Amino acid sequence: MTGLPELTRRRSYALAPDLVLTPAGARDGMVVQVRENRIAFVGPRAEFERQAQGTPITDMPDRAIVPGFIDAHTHLGQAFGKAITGGEPAQIWRRIWAPMESSYDADTVHVSAKWMFLEALRGGFTGIVNFAVLDGEKAAALHQAAEDVGIRLVSATGGALPVDGPHRPTACETAKAIDAALRRAEAHIDACAGQPLITPSLCIPAVQSAPVEMIRALSDYAAERGVLFQIHTNEHHVEVHWSVCTYGRRPLEVFAEHGAVGPHTLHHHCTLVTDHEIEILRETGSAVSYNPLASAWKGDRVAPALGFAARGVRFGIGTDSTRSDALRLLESAETAQRLSQGMQNADFSCGAAWTWIDGATRGSADAAGLAGVTGQIVAGQRADFLVLDRRQPEVTPSWDFEWELVRLYNRDQIDAVVVDGRCIMEGSRPVGWDSEEFLKSNRKRAQDAVSAAPIIRCHGRSADFRYR
Ligand SMILES: [Zn+2]
Repeated sequence: MTGLPELTRRRSYALAPDLVLTPAGARDGMVVQVRENRIAFVGPRAEFERQAQGTPITDMPDRAIVPGFIDAHTHLGQAFGKAITGGEPAQIWRRIWAPMESSYDADTVHVSAKWMFLEALRGGFTGIVNFAVLDGEKAAALHQAAEDVGIRLVSATGGALPVDGPHRPTACETAKAIDAALRRAEAHIDACAGQPLITPSLCIPAVQSAPVEMIRALSDYAAERGVLFQIHTNEHHVEVHWSVCTYGRRPLEVFAEHGAVGPHTLHHHCTLVTDHEIEILRETGSAVSYNPLASAWKGDRVAPALGFAARGVRFGIGTDSTRSDALRLLESAETAQRLSQGMQNADFSCGAAWTWIDGATRGSADAAGLAGVTGQIVAGQRADFLVLDRRQPEVTPSWDFEWELVRLYNRDQIDAVVVDGRCIMEGSRPVGWDSEEFLKSNRKRAQDAVSAAPIIRCHGRSADFRYR
């Protein structure tokens, strides 16, 4: 037991672990002081003792403090059906997720979100960027789940009016859909106000999901209100092909032509991007979520994240609801680049570990519109961090903390998760509520939600393939 749940209830406290992961790298002999939810001081112990004479310091031997990870892309409605996607061909959103999520009532939205928050905290995420088009009642249920748990959330809503079906929306239908989406957006931004851990965001699913006028209207409104605009961009071959056939342009080129690029935009995936499109992202200051595991499990290609890093494209790292484990995500981020690019070029460094840590902390915060709020252990930011146990054989003796974090640390070494200065998970168990009881009492609801949804599964169970 760390004693952190009690200690972090105080207005101010100071921690002295073995090691602190600062923006300049891993440092020992440091003190991190938290005051009123924010990091008030990070620096050498002697300096802290000089400045804050008599302030008690809690020693944390064999422990490291690292920034909390931020999942730059997830769908909180996808908690219940994870292994169903095994072996499935790309575009599972059409056959599995959309049919499942559209059958939820507000209570199921609440349970699914809380379920995923629990997984996320166990995996070291202190912040989540959600992607969903929700009405006010369902958004409120999702916000209640975030409040129950105490996690930081970028909460989305938006609109959709598919343009890839047999019926193309008329001008009148488009105008009505824009109007409804903007009204929902305005109400959503108002509903998020006054919730310190919740930040509003707007979204449109993808290029086929709405007329270009609607994509422009929502992106413009997000820019005007100073909130994040999210969209899935150049993820699958089918989508790029459709876009070129329909508009004569690739999806990101369509977004650039219609105002859906810029510092307020977060483009999910960007797996199939040309050099020209990488330049669009860089020139316009648009952000990307790199989802390495989603590429492996359900995608068409791995995003050129090393290229994003080298060319100064803003990017964060996300799970896309594959597996809420930040440490295994770091490993996937490195491995996916190594297999898809590094090995072809004898690039043995492949981002040198810190690229992926930076991407999943500061980078994800920046991509999510939370730059300066969270993502780094620096004075002034909100106190979102993890306490890691450094005593295990996998990471002892320590030679290079960043490589160890990317390749060797595991979820069971997360001693505590602190969000906004408060310890909300200790030893994989949430503070203040019973996760075992929660899972037990909601397991049937989860099974029913999947069973009742009109899911189309093309692959089937793994055992069915054993003798083929
Ligand atoms: Zn997605």
